[in-house]
Amino acid sequence: MRYSRVLVKLSGGAVAGEREWGFSPDALNHIADEVLALHSAGVEVSVVVGGGNIFKGELGEEWGIERAEADNIGMMATVINALMLRGVLNARGDAEVRVMSAIPINAVAEPYIRLRAINHLSKGFIVVHAAGTGNPYVTTDYPAVQRALELRAQALLSAKNGTDGVYTADPGTDPTARRYLRVSYDTTIQEDLRALDQSAVLLARDHDLPIHVFDFDAPGAMRCICEGEDIGTLIGHGSDVLAERKALNAEHR
Ligand code: UDP
Repeated sequence: MRYSRVLVKLSGGAVAGEREWGFSPDALNHIADEVLALHSAGVEVSVVVGGGNIFKGELGEEWGIERAEADNIGMMATVINALMLRGVLNARGDAEVRVMSAIPINAVAEPYIRLRAINHLSKGFIVVHAAGTGNPYVTTDYPAVQRALELRAQALLSAKNGTDGVYTADPGTDPTARRYLRVSYDTTIQEDLRALDQSAVLLARDHDLPIHVFDFDAPGAMRCICEGEDIGTLIGHGSDVLAERKALNAEHR
């Protein structure tokens, strides 16, 4: 195995599946099966889940809700997703699953305590992180990198829906767009490639955390990445390498 401890970042969109909002049972089952497959391969796994299928702070403007308050609502959305995920993980496997929240919500989730989270992982528990950093003005990309570093994960697996990596341009609008096999943190930031929030990429760069961006809809992708396969795009140090030109989204199916 290339990685024995990873952190998986899932957006709210992964929970909603084909729907624009809310939850899709099929999507939740897929998430649970992918996480459980990783876990049964012996990888220690924790998950940071977003909340965009319920609410994102940037939407607050529509109602005149000030940003810090809207972000609190967004963080609560991530708590709901984390609890949904724990429920489905428990229903589909027998791994011990703990939800740890950055905002105290003790009746339903443990408080996030770094050493306790590491202890859970060492015992083979799956840890689902809720409420991001517990602070407004960021999305869950930043806490995904932060938690990965705090928990000494060897990589961040940034799951995407509808794209299979980081491209030189938007493949939806630019037919010449090429996927990177590997791209440096600096190119990602300077070219504003929008794989993750810039603040998250900067934090990863400064602490040498590899980020794999990949198509979450492709079954087994996370396990293959941990086993050492080059799937999607790896953001790291070093020079940029483009993937062989093949049909978009078809490479690793
Ligand atoms: N959020 C926040 N602080 C955090 C993490 C998240 O305020 O540390 C809020 C923010 O409003 C964000 C929302 O929670 O828009 C949901 O997270 P995100 O947008 O990352 O969800 P995703 O796009 O991954 O579904």
